[in-house]
Amino acid sequence: MDVVHRIALIPGDGIGREVVPAAAEVLEAAARRFGFALRWEELDWGCERLLRTGAMLPADGLEALADLDAIFLGAVGDPRVPDHVSLWGLLIPIRRRFRQYVNLRPARLLPGVPSPLAAVPAGGIDMVIVRENNEGEYSEIGGRLYPGTEEEMAVQEAVFTRRGVDRVLRYAFALAAARRGRLTSATKSNGIVHTMPFWDERVAAVARDFPQVAVEQYHIDILAAHFVQRPERFDVVVASNLFGDILSDLSAAVTGSIGLAPSANLNPEREHPSMFEPVHGSAPDIAGRGIANPMAQILSGAMMLRHLGQARAADAVEAAVAQVLAEGGPRTPDLGGNAGTAEVARAVASALA
Ligand code: ATP
Ligand code: MG
Repeated sequence: MDVVHRIALIPGDGIGREVVPAAAEVLEAAARRFGFALRWEELDWGCERLLRTGAMLPADGLEALADLDAIFLGAVGDPRVPDHVSLWGLLIPIRRRFRQYVNLRPARLLPGVPSPLAAVPAGGIDMVIVRENNEGEYSEIGGRLYPGTEEEMAVQEAVFTRRGVDRVLRYAFALAAARRGRLTSATKSNGIVHTMPFWDERVAAVARDFPQVAVEQYHIDILAAHFVQRPERFDVVVASNLFGDILSDLSAAVTGSIGLAPSANLNPEREHPSMFEPVHGSAPDIAGRGIANPMAQILSGAMMLRHLGQARAADAVEAAVAQVLAEGGPRTPDLGGNAGTAEVARAVASALA
């Protein structure tokens, strides 16, 4: 009897509905080849559901995810729904309820994909952004005062706990130790004088347990410049919720296309399901046309297979994507081609077989 992995399948909105089915087919092909089974529990959660029924998900929705092995998500977002509603209505509750405190966002320049940066050699970028995913700047604490007057003001508090900071730092240090042994931390301690120096202190404290890792601490602004000027020198980059979000869009852009960038929301202790989704959003500008690049979703699926213990299948999926790109196979318009979502996914599936 094959091992069966039970997975919540949430296509969501926009191009999520196009790239998720395409990626699921590739993962099915991997499952057949490596002798395990994927049992999908498809859920219609997202903004479409919100507009239809008044809720993005059922009241007991999160509990229904609790005993599944993983969550495979496309994107949520809709021009008719304010962005913060979709973020706080679905993504943040899942990340927090299931203590997915690590958001892992690898950024690699794959052979056959041109970087917008002329100076970067092929294969020259290979870094992982480790973004804190449960606290930090994304907080509900704060409010507005004196609306409509000259004195109107908005106040927003960021929350950094020692437990929350240390656990994501430990994950990042261990990852750096297993890779090239270099860890870069991004803060802004000259301008943000309470939370950011605290983060810097915890980096120094945790570093004592990882003497084999070389640590450098940057201000976020100069680090962003270095991502453009010499991205090849970074290995593991760890940052707060907001800074990690920004750095990973930037690192995706310098590696060719946001349509190639995968991510994992991990509960490293495996007490709860982890969630796998591309870095990109629902892309309403191209939704419904069948031209979205499915590779970010497919590579997120590879991260999921690795987390489920199917490392050989994960490697094979990543190799199949790399092969299609390196051999000049079909590519979507974001990479300069004219192929559609389904054609690219089929090419990856046949490279896998
Ligand atoms: P979010 O708020 O969810 O992060 P966003 O507003 O940042 O979303 P995205 O949906 O990520 O925006 O899209 C940003 C740009 O990248 C858009 O022009 C979109 O068309 C393009 N894009 C995003 N994903 C893909 C993809 N898979 N293939 C091709 N183009 C994409
Ligand atoms: Mg974005």
